[in-house]
Amino acid sequence: VRLHLLGVRGSTPAPGGEFVRYGGHTSCVALAHDDGPPVLVLDAGTGIRRLPALLRGAPFVGTLLLTHLHWDHVEGLPFCSSTDREDAQVDVLLPADPDGVTAEASLARMMSPPTFPIAPEGLRGRWTFGSLAAGAHQMEGFTVTAAEVAHKGGVTYGYRVTDGASSLAYLPDHRPTAYGPGPDGIGAVPDELMELVSRVDVLIHDAQFLACAGELAVADDYGHAAAEYAVDLGNAADVGAVVLFHHNPARTDNDLDEVAARYRGVAGTHVTVASEGTVIRPGRPLESAAVIVPDTAGTAPEAAP
Ligand SMILES: [Zn+2]
Ligand SMILES: [Zn+2]
Repeated sequence: VRLHLLGVRGSTPAPGGEFVRYGGHTSCVALAHDDGPPVLVLDAGTGIRRLPALLRGAPFVGTLLLTHLHWDHVEGLPFCSSTDREDAQVDVLLPADPDGVTAEASLARMMSPPTFPIAPEGLRGRWTFGSLAAGAHQMEGFTVTAAEVAHKGGVTYGYRVTDGASSLAYLPDHRPTAYGPGPDGIGAVPDELMELVSRVDVLIHDAQFLACAGELAVADDYGHAAAEYAVDLGNAADVGAVVLFHHNPARTDNDLDEVAARYRGVAGTHVTVASEGTVIRPGRPLESAAVIVPDTAGTAPEAAP
């Protein structure tokens, strides 16, 4: 499997000179088989606007798998020129609503007048919208295990994805203090969570806050995790690498350099601070953002805001 980190920010995009190295787009990760095109996209934050560059002008044909419906995970959905075109084929899957609201109706809550000019059915191409139950599913040549994780405001899934050779877990939004304080006050690890992430090659995890006095209470209040929790979870679950993800939109490049410096050279799990454009092939060194070509395809006409 090949992973592209297309958006690594949480809550709201963070444009500006202080954010260029780690990137300002919100959550989106594209998965491909070996050297093929991306076929499975996790979340549709504004980072999905980088998908056209990966597809080099081709339409997206695949599955868009959402962890939940908070703005930072869906805001890019109508603004991607690879998916909003006549020859696109997009199967959107999102956590099943406990009240039985259909996937399309759930999305239409944020995407319909007066909050947005068009509803989901107004997107060009062939689109389907489906609700996903917890458990194991086959899609796009991957086995995807969906499990509900603690967050805030609606059902949120974490995903484990494997192609049989390598595996990753994706938990961009996670409130582990909901399970209890754990030994260090930053959150507990229930058995189901351990099972979801156990021994994956790459754990992409919520690191919106830090375990310091000023941030930990806010993390709990907003439904997020501390970076330290992500690292501890990775160590406990014996994962190959922890990717700290969903950065606070106020965390500048220099701030994130400091977070990265804490873990550089520390024995144990390999920890990396997610930066937009990074390519990950499990078991190989990270490739830098430089391998991604500019988003020239993204200049095509798109739905107006
Ligand atoms: Zn989020
Ligand atoms: Zn969220």
